[in-house]
Amino acid sequence: MVAITETKTLQLFIGGDWGDAKNGETFEVLNPLDDSLYCHAAKGSGDDMRRAVAAAKAAFPAFKETSPTQRERWLLRVAELMEERQKELVDCLIDEIGSPVQKAMFEFNKALTMVRAAAGLCRNVRGETIPSDAPGKFSMSIRKPLGVVAVITPFNVPLIKTARLVGNALAVGNTVVHLPSEMAPHLTVLFAEIVAEAGFPAGTYNVVTGLGHEIGDDLTAHKEINFVTFTGSTIVGQHINEICARNKTPATLELGGKSPTVIMADADLDKAMPLVARSIFMFGGQACIGSSRFYVERPIFDEFVKRFAMIAGKLGMGDLRDPNTVIAPIISDRQRQRVKDHIADAVAKGATVVTGGEWEGNRCQPTLLTGVSGEMTICKDETFGPVTSIYPIDSYEEGLEKANDTEYGLSSAIFTKDINRAFHFAKNIEAGMCHINGPTIHDEAHVPFGGNGESGVGREGTDADMDAMTELKWVTVQL
Ligand code: NAD
Repeated sequence: MVAITETKTLQLFIGGDWGDAKNGETFEVLNPLDDSLYCHAAKGSGDDMRRAVAAAKAAFPAFKETSPTQRERWLLRVAELMEERQKELVDCLIDEIGSPVQKAMFEFNKALTMVRAAAGLCRNVRGETIPSDAPGKFSMSIRKPLGVVAVITPFNVPLIKTARLVGNALAVGNTVVHLPSEMAPHLTVLFAEIVAEAGFPAGTYNVVTGLGHEIGDDLTAHKEINFVTFTGSTIVGQHINEICARNKTPATLELGGKSPTVIMADADLDKAMPLVARSIFMFGGQACIGSSRFYVERPIFDEFVKRFAMIAGKLGMGDLRDPNTVIAPIISDRQRQRVKDHIADAVAKGATVVTGGEWEGNRCQPTLLTGVSGEMTICKDETFGPVTSIYPIDSYEEGLEKANDTEYGLSSAIFTKDINRAFHFAKNIEAGMCHINGPTIHDEAHVPFGGNGESGVGREGTDADMDAMTELKWVTVQL
């Protein structure tokens, strides 16, 4: 394990300077594999948050005037430095949040594409010309950055979210105050070191580590915050949405999910099964876009369950640095209890555990349930563990109806050879994302990523973030 020594404590990064929390307080970050101490981090206070917002605000007037070429250079340098420090970043993803190395490498590579795509965005902050009814009037829109952006990220994909959201915010000329998950502060501190070394001016990117429930409101409710981008649980997202609505602060919310996959009888199971397994078991099910509901046409239901169970039973639960390991420890006691409660509730109410259900240390075995019904918590609520339910369906229509029977609306998938059904599903599934013959877990830097309903508001990705993190100004010239 690459733990930081107990004497080293992560510091806040405010106005280009590293420092302790003003009141000197710290908190512990535990390695989720065995709950050993991973590091200490500064426990930022409301005062620290206000210092960070002030630094970001002070940096904004000069930063917004930097050229696209300059910002592009800085961001490309961030990507180079990430490559130079790959081992540190990957080790951190393994030891701070318990990523198996295959997930850590996937995340690292995806994050690199996010930063490079952000670099490309610098030249794309475009308005448009607009026809005018007024004779001799030239009419256009120009885009300007909003000011200080609050970035709040979750524990599960901290590097992807940081690279994308911080990268895109800086690319379009905003400055940033970042509150990372209290379970993944080191990853963000490493990213801040890289941003500083790449040459971004002091105050353009600020990081305040601390407990979100204590200092989150000091960030989101601050009157100098011009935009909030939040990724995390639906309950915290709802709270932030209320604050932002009150203050008229625009926000993007990327929240939880209960993403469905429909498997039609004509699906190519040989090709589908590895993707199906990836849909839920990657990082031990701790993925917002993980598929926690499978609706399978009855003629292939038994075969599907048999094959799924066979794959699930073979998934690696060994050393996190072994490339064959898939199943990750569940991040915290609170989250472990949630996974246990969901399984126990389902079993008590009559569900069958096809495979899994037991724990090895802080890891839950890959678990498949059948016989799940509406009164079971697991049917509707996000579990955020390596657990999924498989339901039989008698028709495509039933599959679509059941897939839509949720308050969430993040990702979705259908496996079929029927192109008409596939497109009907894509058009009618109430979700922000739909993958035909592919897993619910998929993301790219430039796509509109996001969900509806309890899964959030708005989209992220280069174009979507450009829209969300800038504002249009209408300008006319009388010729
Ligand atoms: P969480 O809601 O517990 O924490 C997310 C972040 O919110 C952390 O940085 C935390 O410090 C901060 N926070 C807590 N209280 C706050 C407050 N009052 N004000 C401001 N910030 C506050 O979520 P988590 O456990 O870290 O992540 C798991 C959740 O995130 C799951 O529900 C998952 O589905 C969701 N998620 C969604 C996406 C997506 O793109 N839709 C991606 C990843 C994770």
